[in-house]
Amino acid sequence: MPEKCPVCGKGHLRPGRIREEMFGVDLGTYDGEICDRCGESFLGASAMRQVEERAKEVGICGLASKVKIARSGNSLVVRIPSPLARRLKLKNGQ
Ligand SMILES: [Zn+2]
Repeated sequence: MPEKCPVCGKGHLRPGRIREEMFGVDLGTYDGEICDRCGESFLGASAMRQVEERAKEVGICGLASKVKIARSGNSLVVRIPSPLARRLKLKNGQ
């Protein structure tokens, strides 16, 4: 019997290929388990490490932690450090 999904509690986890992505940057495809009901995907510990390594390689791992949320008037503003913005090809007002 496949393992139950910890997210929806109803589906079952099936082996599958999971494409990891951070800020739209492809971090590769790994073996993991995917819930057949809600579609939530789960990576094993070794795949998680590979994703981390890859994130470091492409230089977005440390940058991600520097993204800050600030308050501006009644709105919340997400501050993105410029190296990350350049990598994501973000433009002012986008
Ligand atoms: Zn599920």
